[in-house]
Amino acid sequence: KIIIEFQNVHKTYDNSAYPLREVSLAVYKRDFLFIAGASGAGKSTFLKLIYGAEKPTSGDLTVLGETMTDVKGDRLSQLRRKMGIVFQDYQLIPQKTIAENLTFVLRAQGFRPEQIQRRLPATLKMLGLSHKANCFPRYLSGGEQQRASLARALVGTPPLLLADEPTGNLDSHNAMQVMKILQKLNRMGITILVTTHDERLIEFLGQPVLSLDQGRLKPVL
Ligand code: ADP
Ligand code: ADP
Repeated sequence: KIIIEFQNVHKTYDNSAYPLREVSLAVYKRDFLFIAGASGAGKSTFLKLIYGAEKPTSGDLTVLGETMTDVKGDRLSQLRRKMGIVFQDYQLIPQKTIAENLTFVLRAQGFRPEQIQRRLPATLKMLGLSHKANCFPRYLSGGEQQRASLARALVGTPPLLLADEPTGNLDSHNAMQVMKILQKLNRMGITILVTTHDERLIEFLGQPVLSLDQGRLKPVL
C-alpha cells in the first residue's frame, strides 16, 4: 500500500533556491527510508512537503490519501495528527515537564484522560525515560531530549514518522541508540522517513538510502 507518492515534484523558493527537481517516489507502508544529502541539499524541504509546511511548486504529491497541493485548515491538521515529527532541535516546550509535553500532544489529538494515563508510561518506558517523566527539558541531556522528542512524536501511535536529522546533535552512542529505536518502531509497523548526513549510521543499519543531490533524488547503490 502506497503511503506517500511524489510525481514529478518541483520545489523552488522565492529567492531562487531550487531544492527539488523532478522528484518521483513511492513510499510503501512499513518502509524505512533514509534521505541523505549535504547541508542545503533540500532534505528539510522534502519533509516539509510531506507534512504540509511547504507546497510543491509543480507536480503531484499525495500523503496518506490527501492531495498536498490542496489540503489546508482542518484537513491539514487532521492529516498532521497521523504523523509524528521529530526535529533536530527537539522543539520540546520548555515550561512543561516531559510527561506534560506528551500529554499536551495527546490532548490535541483527542485522546481521553484514561487513554493518556495508559499511553504515557508505556511510551516513556520504551524510550528509557520513565525516571525523567517529571523533569523539565533543560535538565535532560541532549540524547534524552532527543528521545523525549521521539516519545512525543510516537505517543499517539501515528502510522507515519518523519525525522529530520534526528541524530544531528548527538554523539555516536546516542545516535545509534536513536536509530535502534527507529528500527524497533519500524518492525512494529510504522513507516519511517529519516533525513541524515551521517553516512556511517546509514551503512551500519543497511536500510535503503536515497540521496538528494542538486535537487534530484537518486538511489544510492
Ligand atoms: P537541507 O535540509 O538539506 O539542509 P533545506 O531543504 O533546508 O536543505 O534547504 C534547501 C535549499 O533551499 C537551501 O538552498 C536553502 O537555503 C533553501 N531554503 C530552505 N528553506 C527556505 C525558505 N523558507 N525560503 C527560501 N529558501 C529556503
Ligand atoms: P492544531 O490543528 O491543533 O493547531 P497542528 O496542526 O499544529 O495542531 O498539529 C497537529 C498534530 O501534529 C499535533 O497534535 C502533533 O501530533 C503534530 N505536530 C505538529 N507540530 C509538531 C511538532 N512541532 N512536533 C511534533 N509533533 C507535531
